Amino acid sequence: MHTRVAALTMLSLPAVLAAQTTPVTIRAGRLIDGHGGVIENATIVVQEGRISRVDRGTSRGTGYDLSHYTVLPGLIDAHAHLSWYFNRSGRYHTPNDGDTPVQSMLAMTANAFATLTSGVTTIQSPGSPEDKDLRDFIANGGTPGPRVLTSLQPISSPRFTPDSLREIVRRRKADGADFIKVFASQSIRDGGTQTLSQEQLDAICGEAKAQGLRTLVHAHSAESMRASTLAGCTQIEHGVFATEEVLKLMAERGTYFDPQCGLVFRNYLDNRAKYEGIGNYNEAGFAAMEKAIPLAVAALKRARATPGLKIVWGTDAVAGAHGRNVEDLICRVQDGGQPPMEAITSATSLGAEALGLGNQIGRIAPGYQADLIAVEGDPSKDITALRRVVFVMKGGRVYRWDGERPAQSTASN
Ligand SMILES: [Zn+2]
Repeated sequence: MHTRVAALTMLSLPAVLAAQTTPVTIRAGRLIDGHGGVIENATIVVQEGRISRVDRGTSRGTGYDLSHYTVLPGLIDAHAHLSWYFNRSGRYHTPNDGDTPVQSMLAMTANAFATLTSGVTTIQSPGSPEDKDLRDFIANGGTPGPRVLTSLQPISSPRFTPDSLREIVRRRKADGADFIKVFASQSIRDGGTQTLSQEQLDAICGEAKAQGLRTLVHAHSAESMRASTLAGCTQIEHGVFATEEVLKLMAERGTYFDPQCGLVFRNYLDNRAKYEGIGNYNEAGFAAMEKAIPLAVAALKRARATPGLKIVWGTDAVAGAHGRNVEDLICRVQDGGQPPMEAITSATSLGAEALGLGNQIGRIAPGYQADLIAVEGDPSKDITALRRVVFVMKGGRVYRWDGERPAQSTASN
């Protein structure tokens, strides 16, 4: 029967959205379990929002017939900014650009919908204060979107003393942050050099750990990555200038690495007119991003060549990229040389582990949340199959199905 896993404690993983009591059967032509396993012809039974059984063979019966498709766990994007969007004038939204808070919120929900229906069922946002309401509304089933974990406002100013940084960490926790996001280096558009001292990073990541929170660190230069690793921070984002030495240190310390392959840079360049002239989106900034594309691919290759390094998948999706998240996984395989199954595992079970949700999401196995997507083709052989999503279920509720409805309604949506 039902393998009960640890009780849900996180706000962002609420009890089942649509608590169907009737089991829903899903027939999968091919099942990728999120942990490297494949079953040809499988039947998944979903009950009360969770996977209750996975059987070999496709039994007939009511439910969703995905026998012409590959079913895999919903993807987990460790780094996406749902609050970023293009405003009513077609420009990157900034405070005081004339958009109302309602317009901003509607744009966020549109980003959430585009992300979910593209097959990404969980995202981590590092972060913005608006995430909190979106996270909670999605969690309550009030608006469709991926599960959201957020840092709320990131910590970026190098002015604070270690004591005041510890205080900020505690305040974020009290405000409902799921984790802490910190900038240890400049933006790639400004050179990416270290901005916070070892002492400041020690304070932030040490206090977060004491408070039971993970830490995500924006770091491009090898020095800032090294300092973050030594401070015991959980995960390092970007790392365009990562060296073999610092990647080895990260592997030794168990620090997760979240490099981007290309989507974030290409998206900025494709949408240059919508960003240009705002902050560091200037000529030098765009030149730096253009230069970063081959550097990012090289960093990814160095990371993959580092034994034991845990590489998760985060796109850094901003305005223009929501719903196209999988392009960064495709880049990893096509440009970075990552085997497709390894890319899929990084975006499912390993991504879940990095979020501290390794026994909740990221796998198709009894007891796990029923976060399932189906695609045309076999993404373990042709990663571009991830562009052809036909079915999305999150927490047992169906948000997308391009085929025929089940003959008998199963109250799954
Ligand atoms: Zn980011």
